[in-house]
Amino acid sequence: MNILVINAGSSSLKYQLIDMTTESVRAKGNVERIGLDGSVLKHQYNGNGKAEIKQDVQDHLEAFKLVIKAITDPEYGVIKDISKISAVGHRMVNGGERFIDPILLTDEIIETMKNEVIEFAPLHNPGALMGMEACRKLMPDTPMVVVVDTEFFKTLPRYAYMYGLPYDVYTQYKIRRYGAHGTSHKYVSLRAAKMLGKAPEEVKLITCHLGNGSSISAVSHGKAIDTSMGFTPLEGLIMGTRSGDLDPAVVTYLMEKKGMSPSEMNDYLNKESGILGISGVSSDLRDVEDAAVAGNERAQLAMDMLCYRAKKYIGSYIAALNGVDALVFTAGIGENNATVRNGICQGLENLGIKLDLEKNKVRGIEADISAEDSKVKVFVVPTNEELMIARETRSIVEGQN
Ligand code: AMP
Repeated sequence: MNILVINAGSSSLKYQLIDMTTESVRAKGNVERIGLDGSVLKHQYNGNGKAEIKQDVQDHLEAFKLVIKAITDPEYGVIKDISKISAVGHRMVNGGERFIDPILLTDEIIETMKNEVIEFAPLHNPGALMGMEACRKLMPDTPMVVVVDTEFFKTLPRYAYMYGLPYDVYTQYKIRRYGAHGTSHKYVSLRAAKMLGKAPEEVKLITCHLGNGSSISAVSHGKAIDTSMGFTPLEGLIMGTRSGDLDPAVVTYLMEKKGMSPSEMNDYLNKESGILGISGVSSDLRDVEDAAVAGNERAQLAMDMLCYRAKKYIGSYIAALNGVDALVFTAGIGENNATVRNGICQGLENLGIKLDLEKNKVRGIEADISAEDSKVKVFVVPTNEELMIARETRSIVEGQN
């Protein structure tokens, strides 16, 4: 059974074709710069095969045609025709409270989503919906499922997801904490339970998805009970270009001082802040770490702030969980950056967390990096959101038959 996983953004369309018998990737790639000059499809097949197709792509329909062409191409394709695709799984970042569980896609559902969910992820949802529409046009008979990232956080208790604002902003505008990166947190928490040799229902975990966007979740007995991102992915940790937690009074003060409009302020907090804004070097932590090593004080400050805030979240989640069995690191920084993992774990010995510095040198592979005498296990787990989406898609489609 082949499942095609689609992750469409406003100007990009990422795909993975996964063989579900072995859960292996047959082909994957990305159409970049949709609707812009210099569109290109970067395609990988059968492990290390690579192809690049440069072709103007006006919209998501053309992008999707190009994807189908690539995966069925006689030279670098991996299937003969689209009948070999059993189902398609689409990623959606946030469906508000209306769309939470994975759902079989119909034209009516797409229409409802267009009316009801755009505002919950204005940067992501329009692209995702365009991807779904294009896909349905070209593959009308193939079952399709939407998997929403926030599904994993549907178990958050009300006292964790409500803000301390007047109650009617929740009833009227649905302003509450939704979280993000849920598919990643879910995948790594399932892997971590396996690494502990236990069922997910038997363990308490803290999962740290540290990438350009970063979030930390508390997972109790298979269920998320808290997470650091909120109404939007701006809340929580200090990220590549996002501020994370902030006294809301700073926002109104700065808007007045700098004469910023709401949308300018939104860009300022989302695109100019965080590691980039503090260090003045880059949003990419590799550059910032190099600068810090070379003596750049602001770069060092950015690294210290990132680690300190993550440490505070971990401490508070140990309290929320009343103890923890494993701490899990994933995503670009979590999987690859030993300095950050060490910076976060240092000083948590009294809470039972102790790294083995030699084992901590690992990059990009699943590993136990905790010291022999660490009460809490510390794991590195490469995330795999696409596989998680494919599994959810398969289970919905098989449930229909
Ligand atoms: P992501 O958003 O998960 O792609 O993560 C992006 C962040 O992870 C950037 O700050 C990168 O510096 C960092 N990162 C990604 N890959 C690596 C790597 N191979 N080595 C070190 N850092 C990495």
